[in-house]
This record gives sequence, structure tokens and C-alpha cells, in this order.
Amino acid sequence: MKIPFLSFDATNERIGPEMETAFKKVFDSKWYILGECVQQFEKEYAAFNKTNHCIGVSNGLDALHIALRVLGIGTGDEVIIPSNTFIASALAVSYTGAKPVFAEPNPYTYNIDPSKIAGVLTSKTKAVMPVHLYGQCCEMDAIMKICSDNDLYVVEDNAQAQGSSSNGKIAGSFGQINGTSFYPAKNLGALGDAGAITTDDADLAAKAAMLRNYGSEKKYIHESIGFNMRMDELQAAFLSVKLKQLANWTKERQEIASWYDKALQDTADLILPLTADDCTHVYHLYVIRTKKRNELQQYLNGKNIGTLIHYPVPPHLQRAYRELGFKKGDFPIAEDIADTCLSLPIYPGLSQSDVEFVAEQIKKFFKDA
Ligand SMILES: *Cc1c(COP(=O)(O)O)cnc(C)c1O
Repeated sequence: MKIPFLSFDATNERIGPEMETAFKKVFDSKWYILGECVQQFEKEYAAFNKTNHCIGVSNGLDALHIALRVLGIGTGDEVIIPSNTFIASALAVSYTGAKPVFAEPNPYTYNIDPSKIAGVLTSKTKAVMPVHLYGQCCEMDAIMKICSDNDLYVVEDNAQAQGSSSNGKIAGSFGQINGTSFYPAKNLGALGDAGAITTDDADLAAKAAMLRNYGSEKKYIHESIGFNMRMDELQAAFLSVKLKQLANWTKERQEIASWYDKALQDTADLILPLTADDCTHVYHLYVIRTKKRNELQQYLNGKNIGTLIHYPVPPHLQRAYRELGFKKGDFPIAEDIADTCLSLPIYPGLSQSDVEFVAEQIKKFFKDA
């Protein structure tokens, strides 16, 4: 028995012929950049995400970077992000010249703790970037209230949580402008790099569409120092095929998570993922915590069960951010999560017996320990 951390076997098999048709359509169209397929996917993703506009871009990091830029965020500004996020959230802020400011997460939902935001507000704070980490939508009502009370923008990092929601409203539709990623391993993944911006604001959408394409609306006429951050026609065509499957794949992920929940409850010191009231979880990752994380990971590796750590080093302790001057102990919740978290296999096609096998090995580890 071998259970990899991630496998595309089942999903690829289900959509193989449709993906080949999509490839042939783009190949034969002989139009490979910013054509009908990107336009079509943008329409479909905007409808899925219940926003007026979607702008297809090169990847999730570029989506977040452009989103912050079109809000006018730059040098001298501060943007609040969770202390336990993937590095891309921080990098997008840094690219604009602004400073990432960290707020601690709730240790059980792993999402930014709304009550910790007030403590790091300064006169320079311009925006909050809630990250819907591991697939769970943040507690957005509380975050939106803090931001409207303090005149701050909200830019959601929705790379991991397409289709999740808070109080019935879908992730990626709360902020003035938001970013998501279609990196292959994400819940909606391209066959390469891709990302998108979502917004209800027509003006911000137009600015974002220009910035991704050399600051140009009319060919060879440039309004601003733009970028080449476009989504490929080919990736858009593939994403249109996969978007139709996303709701089913999400249901499958949620069912797998419920099998883990059931099989692993009351196991030694294991902390299982908790979903906040009024929020939903699309289980991009199924993350457990234990003080014996390293030993457990090694044990599972020996049983041919793949696991990963999301993430082993929080942004404030990365060498890339040494100039911010933080040291170990400055964000104890993020550091504790980094030291104890372990992501178990979860993907469409993982069977109930696979999950039970993984759970059995985990229980055996604790019994023998
Ligand atoms: C994947 C990811 C990104 C960046 O997406 P890319 O497409 O890899 O650039 C940003 N934020 C989070 C939380 C992510 O997981």
C-alpha cells in the first residue's frame, strides 16, 4: 500500500478527453494570448465567485500584487497579514514597497484572529489581507467590521479556498479586490501557473486588466508602468474544463475530511482541524497537530504515506524578511503551528479505505510511542 501526499490520477482520468479537446481548440485557433478562452474563463469564474469581474493573470502571487497596486498601496504603507501564511502573501505586499505586518492566527482554525488585528493597527495601515488558509474561509464579518471602522481596504488571499464561504458569502467576494491561484495543486489547478483577480468594482477591474498587460488598454499605447502578468489561453481553456468539476471535487474533499475527523478523534494529543461557526471549509489541506510531529511524519513515511508541512518556517523567521528584525518567540502561535502541524493526504480519488489505512497507522504510532 502506497498513499502519496497528492495524486492527479483520479482527476486527470475523469477529464482526460475533455482536456485534449480544449488543447486542440486553442492549438487550432492559432491565438495564444488574451483571446476568447481567457475571456470565457473570466466570465465563468466571476459567475462561480459571485463577483462582477474576474481578471485572469499569470499566477496567484501576481494576482495579489496587482490587487494591492491598483488600490494605490505602496511605499510607506502597511498591510496586515496572518503570521502563519505562505510566503506569497508577504511577498505581494513587499513588491508594492509596503511593509507586511503580522497578526497571529487562531490556533485551532489557523486563520487570522480578528481580535488580533486591532493590536497591530497604525496610522500607516492601509489594508488587511485575510488568507483563507488550508481551505477554510476566515471569519469575514468581524474582519470586514474592523476594516470599515478603520477605513481599511480588504484584499483576500483566496489561493487555497475557492468555493468556501463565511456566513453564506463566498470567499474572494468580500474584499474590494482579491486574488486567487490556480497552481496545479490548488483545489482548482491549471496545468502550469495561473491565477485570477476578483472584484465587483469596474474601475479597479479595468486598472488590473491594464496592469497585467504592459499598462496598456489599446495596443502600443501605455498608461502606466505595467507588467506582463497575463493568463495563457491554453491554461484558461483547461481551467474552464476543470471549473465544471470543482463543486464535485470539493464535496469529495469534504467527505474525505469527515472520514479523517471520525477515524482520528480522541487520538493521543492530536489536534484536528476546527471550522469556525458560520464558516465553511473546502479542505485544500487536512492539517493535524501533534508535539510528536517529526517522529509521526517519519513513521508515516516508513509506511509509504506521504505528508507535508505547511509551513515549516513562518514568514517573520525567513531570511528574506530578516530586515524586519523579528526573532523566535515574536509570534508564538505561528511558531507553534509551524513546529506541530502535519498535512495528511487529501485529494479527489482518495478512498475511504485509504483514509482508514492512514488513520490506523497514525493510531499505531501513538500506541507504540
Ligand atoms: C499558492 C499560494 C499563493 C500563490 O500562488 P501562486 O500561483 O503559486 O503564485 C498565495 N497565497 C497562498 C496562501 C497560497 O497557498
